[in-house]
Amino acid sequence: MATRLCKLNRRDIAASLDDIQAMVAQPGYMCRSCARSCADKSALCKPQALAKQHTQQKSLLPVANVDSKSAKAANKVALKLAKKTLKKQKKYQKKLEKVLKKQRKLMRKQQALQSKFSVLQEAGSDLNVTPVLDTGFSAQMH
Ligand SMILES: [Zn+2]
Repeated sequence: MATRLCKLNRRDIAASLDDIQAMVAQPGYMCRSCARSCADKSALCKPQALAKQHTQQKSLLPVANVDSKSAKAANKVALKLAKKTLKKQKKYQKKLEKVLKKQRKLMRKQQALQSKFSVLQEAGSDLNVTPVLDTGFSAQMH
């Protein structure tokens, strides 16, 4: 577009509405004399580059607000979830402790049984149980 935005009248604007929309949708420059903004600095009478941080801040501010709101909501949800998981974890830990206790009990039982068994074995080897049984068995046969 050769004509500057600043010089456009209503009819011109209506005629090239699409072009203008494309030019002002993401402006890189603003006009210092009439405050129009445009992506193409040649379309402005006194173009000045827009400070990009400014436009970003302006466009980010409302978004940030929404973000903090949704972040709060997300935090609530996360907190709820965390509490739930904590409960579950506690339950699981209790279960685990029970199982561990049982296991310990069983281990103790096993150890006791083993020690008893080894005592019996020792006693058996001392008494020589097997031959005695054998002779008893053969005595019954004869
Ligand atoms: Zn202008």
